[in-house]
Amino acid sequence: QSRPGWAEVEDYLSATLVGGGEGMEAVISSIDAAGMPRIEVAPTAGKLLMLLARIQGARRVLEIGTLAGFSTIWLARGLPADGHVTTCEYVPGHAAVARKNLDAAGVGAMVDIRVGPALETLPTLEGGEPYDFVFIDADKGNDTAYLQWALKLTRPGSVIVMDNVVWEGTILDPGGDPDAAAIRAALDFMGANSSLEATAIQTAGSKGWDGFAIAVVK
Ligand code: SAM
Repeated sequence: QSRPGWAEVEDYLSATLVGGGEGMEAVISSIDAAGMPRIEVAPTAGKLLMLLARIQGARRVLEIGTLAGFSTIWLARGLPADGHVTTCEYVPGHAAVARKNLDAAGVGAMVDIRVGPALETLPTLEGGEPYDFVFIDADKGNDTAYLQWALKLTRPGSVIVMDNVVWEGTILDPGGDPDAAAIRAALDFMGANSSLEATAIQTAGSKGWDGFAIAVVK
């Protein structure tokens, strides 16, 4: 008898602890219907984002990489009624699908979607109230630049979460994979930066072998 695999265990954990999370199946369907890539976070990870935002008492969240708004909805649900999410998305079609999903989920009024390359959007956010929580999940090549912007746009005590930091283990020997090399550079930046207290957790499940880094701004 073969032992159950990671994906089966994750299905069990999702069904037992996460559930559908109202409207979440509709978000997944919208990704498929629009022919967008299935690169949203797993439901267990989405709920982790919600819980981390809630545990931290976050009110203002910055997300880089919206896709269809799956993680955005989870993050918004972790905030108080006067909470706010700014989310950056490069592809206008993705932003349009996300807008519909956020409105249908009842969090639309809390979320500002900024369409365009995040590195052009982020400077426009300077000078506002600092963000309490930042979730980085866009083009991996810019991860270090996103961390640098996250440091500028936050305050001591803010939390930064960066997704996809293991990339099937390729970070140890990136070879010709520029994303793996960029992720590794971002992890090196996190570890060496005296303003960040960071760690990372490996994950295995429906999204393969990956992980996320989490840091608090000192
Ligand atoms: N966070 C989403 C979730 O879990 O539901 C998934 C985000 S998906 C992994 C990455 C998204 O980042 C894609 O929608 C992609 O179009 C967007 N993206 C890629 N490059 C970008 C850039 N330079 N600026 C902003 N968004 C970008």
